[in-house]
Amino acid sequence: MARITARRAESADSVTLWLQPNGHWAGFQAGQHLNVSAQLDGVRVTRSYSLTNASAADGRLAITVKSVDGGKLSRHLCTGARIGEVLEIGQAFGEMTLPATPQGDWLFLAAGSGITPLISMTRALAKQGMPVPLTLVYWARTRNELCFVDELNKLAAQHANFSARFVLTREPPVGDEAMGRLSEDLIRALVGDVSSQQVFACGPGGFVDSARVALAAAKSFQAEAFSPPPRVIEDTGSVQVTLAASGRTLTLPRGQSLLTALEAEGFKPASGCRMGICNTCACGKSSGVTRHLHTGEFFHEPASALKLCISSASTDLVLDL
Ligand SMILES: Cc1cc2nc3c(=O)[nH]c(=O)nc-3n(C[C@H](O)[C@H](O)[C@H](O)COP(=O)(O)OP(=O)(O)OC[C@H]3O[C@@H](n4cnc5c(N)ncnc54)[C@H](O)[C@@H]3O)c2cc1C
Repeated sequence: MARITARRAESADSVTLWLQPNGHWAGFQAGQHLNVSAQLDGVRVTRSYSLTNASAADGRLAITVKSVDGGKLSRHLCTGARIGEVLEIGQAFGEMTLPATPQGDWLFLAAGSGITPLISMTRALAKQGMPVPLTLVYWARTRNELCFVDELNKLAAQHANFSARFVLTREPPVGDEAMGRLSEDLIRALVGDVSSQQVFACGPGGFVDSARVALAAAKSFQAEAFSPPPRVIEDTGSVQVTLAASGRTLTLPRGQSLLTALEAEGFKPASGCRMGICNTCACGKSSGVTRHLHTGEFFHEPASALKLCISSASTDLVLDL
């Protein structure tokens, strides 16, 4: 559990919450995320958020949340959550972290709330005196949606090795801001040759896909998408899903995530990121065929594990739920 101890508006639609976790919290590395749960109208809602402070040194942790239109937890955290409220948190996880001794050139690409793991790593490098050259390019639709601008400009003034560029997609640029969506040409104009760059990119799924293409010539490329890729399957009809542990059989639609379908029937399986990253919704399957919602791949093995959030039922199933 973690108590909200402070909150600060970070942009027109984002808020940083400082949390004091209890003794079970095992700390984190810059770049990692955690699952956060709150009870909303009597229902437990869980989503993933990246840590935005640089280290666990003072025992507190920070998350920066962008309010998503129609979003359940982000809107609660941005507008409803008050100092003193207790949230449930999981341990930190995630592979997009810096090596113990960073070397070579680094390029961070952020869009929207994708700035969060990258500000944490930027802060961590700044605390080490910025030991490697780092360029951060940060996209937002409009200037008032950008977070951490003053801090990033200050870090750039303090560290010759660090530069930050801001790019807007829906507002004319001012000063050294740039304008336009991510493309190979824009990257070349802002960064030059990328062949020596080790890239971390973070933002919505579409942004990460564009970054992967535009940065194909980079030395290395690692990315984290905050929104799922589009589903590729259009299966229709329904199947019988038996929940072995609960002794119930439900009629569920094909072509929809098992998580969403079960929730619609009133079941609340444990869940987290809802896009196949965190493994919180993993469960056993004893029989039947499932499909991966984002790749269309079929899974036939009888005794195997699946993630409810990215799997849909293709045939009748028996699940260990
Ligand atoms: C590993 C990871 C780390 C993340 N870190 C952060 C973070 O540091 N800060 C942050 O603000 N968010 C972060 N997110 C996104 C976050 O987990 C939620 O998806 C987001 O806050 C929306 O949740 P919600 O309950 O408000 O919306 P929901 O009620 O789940 O969704 C409402 C509507 O918004 C759409 N939607 C859901 N998520 C997004 C999104 N990310 N962008 C645009 N539309 C969306 C849905 O398709 C739906 O139509 C992260 C996601 C992942 C997977």
